[in-house]
Amino acid sequence: MSTFLLEIVTPERKVYGQDVEMIIVRGAEGELGILPHHIPLVTPLEIGPLQIKRNGATEIIAVSGGFMEVRKNKVVILAETAEFPSEIDLERALAAQQRAEKRLQARRDDVDHRRAEMALQRALNRMKVAKKEH
Ligand code: ATP
Repeated sequence: MSTFLLEIVTPERKVYGQDVEMIIVRGAEGELGILPHHIPLVTPLEIGPLQIKRNGATEIIAVSGGFMEVRKNKVVILAETAEFPSEIDLERALAAQQRAEKRLQARRDDVDHRRAEMALQRALNRMKVAKKEH
């Protein structure tokens, strides 16, 4: 099976570096599947799950925005944050969800509203990804 190198890095750490068969990410224009020999591309990423197919199995990582660079047989994902299901603290995500929902009800200020919406999306994404393994 043909593969390409996938690297995932955040400002804090290198999260992943393996030869993989395929990934599915949430790009600015929706879900995007990347196979070996994909055309070169740079795209922003949305908050969402990142699926990785490797050795016939699927792994999942919660990503909260950033960029993906597809090069010749190498894909680099620069993520704001990235966690495996086992790393996700469900209670923390639940607390973040509740905080964000409270802010969304209370505030009318646009910047705060947008920020709370993003926090809510991150929390919901983490809960969804965490439940794949917990
Ligand atoms: P919180 O309000 O709980 O901090 P957040 O969405 O604002 O959530 P981020 O700014 O996205 O947090 O992430 C800050 C750091 O904390 C990153 O290293 C991220 O991986 C980690 N992190 C955030 N939430 C969780 C969680 N529920 N479980 C594990 N790690 C988390």
